[in-house]
Amino acid sequence: MLERLAALRAADAPTHGGHVLSYVYDPGLAEVDELAAAAMRAVQPVNGLDPTTFTSVAVMERELVGFARAVLHGPTDGPDVVVGSVTSGGTESCLLAVKAARDAFRARHGDRPGVRPRVVVAASAHAAFRKAAQYLDVTLTTLPVDPASGLPDAAAYVAELDRRSVDGGRDVALVVVSAPSYPHGVVDPVAEVAAAAHERGVDVHVDACVGGWVLPFWGAAGGGQVPPFDFAVPGVTSISADVHKYGYAPKGTSVLLVRGRDRQRRQFFATTAWPGYPVVNAGMSGSRPAGPLAAAWAVSQALGTEGYTALTARCVRATRALHAAVGQLDGLRVVGSPTGPLIAVATDESVPAERRVDPHVWADAARARGWVLQPQPGLTQGDGTRLPHTTHLTVTPVTEATLDDLVPALAASADEVRGVGRPDTSGVLAALGAVSPAPAAAGGPALAAPTSDEMWAALLTALDTDGGSPRRGTGAVLPDRLAPLMAVMESLPGPVAERLLVEILARVAEPLDDAAPGA
Ligand SMILES: *Cc1c(COP(=O)(O)O)cnc(C)c1O
Repeated sequence: MLERLAALRAADAPTHGGHVLSYVYDPGLAEVDELAAAAMRAVQPVNGLDPTTFTSVAVMERELVGFARAVLHGPTDGPDVVVGSVTSGGTESCLLAVKAARDAFRARHGDRPGVRPRVVVAASAHAAFRKAAQYLDVTLTTLPVDPASGLPDAAAYVAELDRRSVDGGRDVALVVVSAPSYPHGVVDPVAEVAAAAHERGVDVHVDACVGGWVLPFWGAAGGGQVPPFDFAVPGVTSISADVHKYGYAPKGTSVLLVRGRDRQRRQFFATTAWPGYPVVNAGMSGSRPAGPLAAAWAVSQALGTEGYTALTARCVRATRALHAAVGQLDGLRVVGSPTGPLIAVATDESVPAERRVDPHVWADAARARGWVLQPQPGLTQGDGTRLPHTTHLTVTPVTEATLDDLVPALAASADEVRGVGRPDTSGVLAALGAVSPAPAAAGGPALAAPTSDEMWAALLTALDTDGGSPRRGTGAVLPDRLAPLMAVMESLPGPVAERLLVEILARVAEPLDDAAPGA
């Protein structure tokens, strides 16, 4: 089994060495990995469901939350005391922040007929808040960001805070700002938004999932000033900070910090209304692994403020070098002024078409050279403005050691595709049109998602994804070039594109046959 696993792992994208500039956060320290693995192994059989039975869980959770609270300037006592819990990741932390705000709103405003709690986010907020709105049945208001800077306007948040609901009262349960946003790596106007929300008694969640374990060290690491974004800002009521990102822990841990014990208690679930054990959970899971917590605890205790500052200094130097290098590439530009180690790269529209570089075609050229960059589709916002499609780079400490190879590869990739436009999607759209169950109706969406296996097979074949062929057995699913797929997704109606994503992912893990081991 382990031999087979090793062979399967060999086909994965490399998790170490800095060739994948998203998903993985490599400190470049083998001893950190080993410590994490040993810590996981030590608690492998433990059930984190009950820290009163498995008391190691309570101690580790307390110490990890305490570390996060200290670096994010949370008060340690008084009515404003910051408390927290460890969740399975950023998405769970964001979902819980919305759940707590929704339940507080319902408790306070339950007697207002027709009024639904509303969560106000920027278009650049992580998709986890869309998921939260869908799962938790709250209304999401999405504010546009400036296409040039990637930033939302604080005044637009204020207008939403003051917007009156059907009964003339206010209905915002939570506002969300990012530090920084994932798509563009820029820090939202936290202090301005929090001041306005505080004045109106509305909670503010700072999504520092990606920034929470790197921005606190950014200034001391030589990265320059970071706008205030943590509990030092009055009015910030909760912060999410993923340890499995710049905390350099294995996947499966985020910290959700909340100002005020009563506010935090809204995130919990408890019931005595069944004949089993009394249930109380801080988050979504019942039984939960102690392994990710133990690994995150061990890694964060071992690195400490000093270790994180040293690793952040590597991120700072690598980000500066990459930012400058991309700035030198004719036909590309960095979006806005990122604070922290994330960069979004777009086409430089200020040069003539023959000198422009398409960021997705560029990413495909870089991929062919062994560098995996992350394409992000463009988006038309509610106000009609268009956010350009970009390519995202997550810079980690190991990036610094790769610069001598990475920078020339990015330049050669740009040279290779300069003047090449986005892939033509008409063939795929025609294929979809041919299988689409709803032929173009006047005024309605021109295309609908396929409704049968044959239709899906036709579309996925046209897209060159491996939906249903025997090559699936190798784990390979997506084509080598992603630019065509991204372009198709952008030209499809949202619900059709979303259904396409579901179809691709759902087919990835479908069993090939019924062979049971040992049968
Ligand atoms: C990564 C991220 C999330 C979601 O975190 P997961 O750990 O992937 O669930 C939320 N917000 C931001 C800003 C992120 O970068």
